[in-house]
Amino acid sequence: MKKYIGAHVSASGGVEIAPVNAHEIGANAFALFTKNQRQWVAKPLTEESIREFKGNCEKFSFDARYILPHDSYLINLGHPEEEGLEKSRAAFLDEMQRCEQLGLQLLNFHPGSHLNKISVEECLDKVAESINITLDKTKGVTAVIENTAGQGSNVGNEFWQLKHIIDRVEDKSRVGVCLDTCHTYSAGYDIVGEYDKVFREFDEVVGFNYLRGIHLNDTKKALGSHVDRHDSIGKGLLGIDFFKRFMKDERFDNIPIILETPDETLWAEEIKLLRSFE
Ligand SMILES: [Zn+2]
Ligand SMILES: [Zn+2]
Repeated sequence: MKKYIGAHVSASGGVEIAPVNAHEIGANAFALFTKNQRQWVAKPLTEESIREFKGNCEKFSFDARYILPHDSYLINLGHPEEEGLEKSRAAFLDEMQRCEQLGLQLLNFHPGSHLNKISVEECLDKVAESINITLDKTKGVTAVIENTAGQGSNVGNEFWQLKHIIDRVEDKSRVGVCLDTCHTYSAGYDIVGEYDKVFREFDEVVGFNYLRGIHLNDTKKALGSHVDRHDSIGKGLLGIDFFKRFMKDERFDNIPIILETPDETLWAEEIKLLRSFE
């Protein structure tokens, strides 16, 4: 088995519950929030919680390489204003330190938003600087930039923007990207009609060597709509043939593939369905 598939599972009741939830849906990868994603500050992880998280990962055979934690939605590493930027950087450092404590290797985040106050390039520069500051203070965790649909003033919807950030990160061994299939399509990349062309372009502009994860979602919104609305696998505009092709594509082997599809009661079935396409 070369594909590592899971979902963004609940960690309510403690991070240690996440691997249990992932095991129950037949996953061999998963994503989680290591703190409440809608709050700035969280209590530190307890020794007990850390120990149980590691124990459950071992018990259910989850390897840290295929666990893709996601940071808080409040964080904006490209914030145009000093106060917002500092607050975001402090929260991002805390997120990365939590990953370190849990023995995790990846931290997935949305790059940021310019809030119509600075240019896209200036915003991307701030994101890169935020990553550099955080990597300097931590060890062993890779900053994984997620591409966005380009909703509102979010940056990171075009491949060159991801590359712009990577180019400015000092430690290239600890920066990577996560492609969200819903976001990619909404951003205007036709992975249905021009699958080969889009991924060739991704390889040329960013490089598959930087790909650290996939958010595998279908989408409710049109190509180029810049609207981020996930759909269940095969039920949206990407359609089942896209997922068949994706599952046979070796370029997506050996990285976490995470469902963020809206109906979590379908996750176990969706994983089985995807496995049948391998
Ligand atoms: Zn995503
Ligand atoms: Zn999304």
